[in-house]
Amino acid sequence: MGKTITVAIDGPAGAGKSTMARRLAERLGFVYIDTGAMYRAIALSARRLGIGWDDAARLEKLAREARIELPGGGRVLLDGEDISLEIRDPEISEGASRVSAIPGVRRALVEKQQQMGREASVVMEGRDIGTVVFPDAEVKIYLDATPEERTRRRLKDLAARGVQAGFAQVLSEIQRRDERDSTRADSPLRQAPDAIYVDSTSMNEDEVEEALLKIVRARTSNGKEVTS
Ligand code: C5P
Repeated sequence: MGKTITVAIDGPAGAGKSTMARRLAERLGFVYIDTGAMYRAIALSARRLGIGWDDAARLEKLAREARIELPGGGRVLLDGEDISLEIRDPEISEGASRVSAIPGVRRALVEKQQQMGREASVVMEGRDIGTVVFPDAEVKIYLDATPEERTRRRLKDLAARGVQAGFAQVLSEIQRRDERDSTRADSPLRQAPDAIYVDSTSMNEDEVEEALLKIVRARTSNGKEVTS
């Protein structure tokens, strides 16, 4: 098998990582991997089984045994069942943030993510991709925006799915999740020292896509071969 390339995109909730990682993967012909969806799948499974968000032993077992597939088009399968819509529920966002603080859950999912990155060139997005999952990734990007702008984007996403929510409520949910994700002991959200910081607050989606593509191309030869 030839050498695979890993593009790691980390950043806080609502920064546009999913949209950008998906677009970038399409442009480069890479596989798009949404690691947040994997933590969400475990949270959903736990809720269905009545397992508490802090039941470390049972959650780790769940994470080890779960068969999570990301077949493309933003679809997420858990043991063959399409859970793409259900995992976007705000209660599952909160649950994912809770279960992702458990080291055993992280270990199980990180192993699966590393396996996915070995099999193909990927654009992988999450919180710890450039720091923990692929510390040697060829390209590392930290995508950010102000909390207010991230709230506006999240409200737009929710509205597109027919969910009405208030600005203050979504802002406080985002801030609570960022706080927990950044302060947890295991693999907190932080910028890798060698990641390129992109503040997308005043950029539209096309501008962000072009900026990220430029970064990838500067580090690789048109997404094909590493030059540095
Ligand atoms: O990115 P998304 O909002 O879908 O992620 C849901 C939650 O999963 C995050 O709030 C975070 O707690 C957790 N997560 C993580 N590490 C990742 C991806 C997501 O801890 N690599």
